[in-house]
Amino acid sequence: MQAFKLGADDFFVKPLDMEESLLQIGHHIERKRMFNSFSMFDELPGAYNRTYLKEIYSQQLSSYARSKESFCLALLDLDLFKGINDQYGHLMGDQVLQAFVEYMKREIRPTDHIFRYGGEEFILLLPKTNVKEAETVLNRLLESFSKKMFTHKKSSFYCSSSGGVVEVHNNEWLLNKALHQADEALYVAKELGRKKIVASSQSKLVKRRTLRMAIIDDDSIIRTMLKELLSKIDVGDRYEVKIEVFKDGIEFFESEWIHSSDQYFVILDGMMPKMDGLEVLQKLRQQKRHDQYTVIMLTSRNSE
Ligand code: GH3
Ligand code: MG
Ligand code: MG
Repeated sequence: MQAFKLGADDFFVKPLDMEESLLQIGHHIERKRMFNSFSMFDELPGAYNRTYLKEIYSQQLSSYARSKESFCLALLDLDLFKGINDQYGHLMGDQVLQAFVEYMKREIRPTDHIFRYGGEEFILLLPKTNVKEAETVLNRLLESFSKKMFTHKKSSFYCSSSGGVVEVHNNEWLLNKALHQADEALYVAKELGRKKIVASSQSKLVKRRTLRMAIIDDDSIIRTMLKELLSKIDVGDRYEVKIEVFKDGIEFFESEWIHSSDQYFVILDGMMPKMDGLEVLQKLRQQKRHDQYTVIMLTSRNSE
């Protein structure tokens, strides 16, 4: 009775008949999907869902086509949210999400809309707004939300957020295009240390990072094969990849190539004649900036 009062749809008596329970649960999930697709609301009270986002976005686009007044789309993501869950529990995490939506709903204009994009990510649509105005508003909103104190048992904490914002002033820009731009800008905001709003136009100015991949192996066939394989990996357009091969550890350590502030990905042969793979690894770990290096060691040894 208590469970039903709290809104439960069903209950199962143990021991479970697996076949029957799976069927029943399957039906519930199917029905829930159907309800969700009819609904414009997210499970998190106050936020709209993605289905409704598509609808409102198209409305905004046609309104833009008529009035030529641009609008903004912002992708907001709570910072280090996983840590909040880990430290204070999922229920507390949910409360923070709820507080975020309530806060945003209260502060935005009645014509603005907030959507749950997924997990701890939200979309804000700001009609008749240019990117400068959007940045100002968002900076103010996020800044003051980050000062809101949450309490859990005897401890207290804060939650900041970052955002990428894009101004839509082209009626051929479909939702995906705007989302992609906002997502790129959000990524830059996170890279710059979080608790920030970055506009899509700015994010283009930020240099791509370099990822250096080193292959250290005395076998020239393996070097060639690995180089070929690595050069085909798609790392997206956020990184520029530079690959170098070295025939042993000595050549690697003598190279100028290893003295940069970039991130390194090293594929290291475990057995080499001049300087053993383990020695190279040890030497790398003693470097001041050893956390720049991620190492995979190729070895047939199977002991620790
Ligand atoms: P970043 O600043 O880079 O965004 O770090 P982050 O920890 O926020 O990012 P990450 O994407 O690694 O983790 C997101 C976390 O959000 C993981 C997931 O457990 C949590 N999360 C997603 N949806 C919900 C939800 O509905 N409730 C709760 N409590 N947690 C959620
Ligand atoms: Mg996220
Ligand atoms: Mg996050």
